[in-house]
Amino acid sequence: MSSRQATAQTNLDAISRNFDQVRQLAPSSKIMAVIKADAYGHGAAQVAKKLKQADAFAVARVSEAVKLREAGVGGTICLLEGVMNREDLNLASIYELQVVVHSEDQLELMTRSGARRDVWLKIDTGMGRLGIRPEKADSALQKLDQQRLIGLMTHFAQSDEVGAELTVRQIEKIRSISRQLYRHNPAAAVISMANSAGIMAHADSRSDWIRPGLMLYGASPLADLEPDPDLHPAMHFSAPVISIRDIKVGDSVGYGSIWTTERDTRIAVVGAGYADGYPREMAQGTPVLVNGERRRLVGRVSMDMITVELEKSDVVEMGDHVTLWGEGLPVEEIARCAGTIPYTLTCGIAGRVRRTFRGEVRG
Ligand SMILES: *Cc1c(COP(=O)(O)O)cnc(C)c1O
Repeated sequence: MSSRQATAQTNLDAISRNFDQVRQLAPSSKIMAVIKADAYGHGAAQVAKKLKQADAFAVARVSEAVKLREAGVGGTICLLEGVMNREDLNLASIYELQVVVHSEDQLELMTRSGARRDVWLKIDTGMGRLGIRPEKADSALQKLDQQRLIGLMTHFAQSDEVGAELTVRQIEKIRSISRQLYRHNPAAAVISMANSAGIMAHADSRSDWIRPGLMLYGASPLADLEPDPDLHPAMHFSAPVISIRDIKVGDSVGYGSIWTTERDTRIAVVGAGYADGYPREMAQGTPVLVNGERRRLVGRVSMDMITVELEKSDVVEMGDHVTLWGEGLPVEEIARCAGTIPYTLTCGIAGRVRRTFRGEVRG
């Protein structure tokens, strides 16, 4: 950690252990590891190469899948948003991608294109975003009779609330649709519904296939709970001290002079700001780790830096790295300080941040 740059380190061994944890929770489910958005900012190609034990990978878009194939990632890759047009469909064929079909438009496109592909039929059981309406499921299935159906997919709207009524209804709904459709096509018996929150909070959503994302990266989607001790944080975001200054009682720090010290104290200026992915919305007093000790963010987050109040006893040198989230500082907690969720923090790491990997598998 001696680099003088903001650094996001991905611990691939932690991701592997989190995967094993998913396996333990759902030993009879196949696992589609969700690595969209560059594996939530953790490096999709590296994560895919590490998780050889995954039964499949999932991304949102064709461009993400193509990148993975070009990086040498084999195995099954599923397109959660399916395809938009003929060009996407061709790419799906060339790169052997599974395609989720979630709309009438996509059904049309598939029917017209002739070629046989591996498809999931996505049903909207209450999310109200993507998916065929339940009453259209039967006719949709018929339109897919030239395709190789893998199963039915659905997505939860409220699974991050433990015991949510809607989730229970969604689980019942997809099971009942599956029971009806399976008479026309045995593959419709196969169901995929759970995301991380489903896996963690709704045991009966751990069906044939599960789709963990966030929990692989060691963060919990369950808003009200403490970080799960069985999950290992996979991202360590840190930045170097670029200046240390003494300030006197009554001095203000940073843009807008929103923070003024009530005592003589010392400030560390740390080289990461909102242009690196440390949100400007971060609350005053948000913790950072200086030599493993919690210290407070003071003053407004700038584009390239933040300011942290030091204690008298702190021995800090220029270039020392301050932890912004990661080991010892849960990303869930930091997300709350910014009024957001862990997903947006890890996904938001900017391109200029240095990237490193622990436990990388080459080739
Ligand atoms: C992103 C996504 C997931 C993974 O969700 P997590 O909350 O990160 O576990 C699963 N399924 C679909 C359809 C998704 O879009």
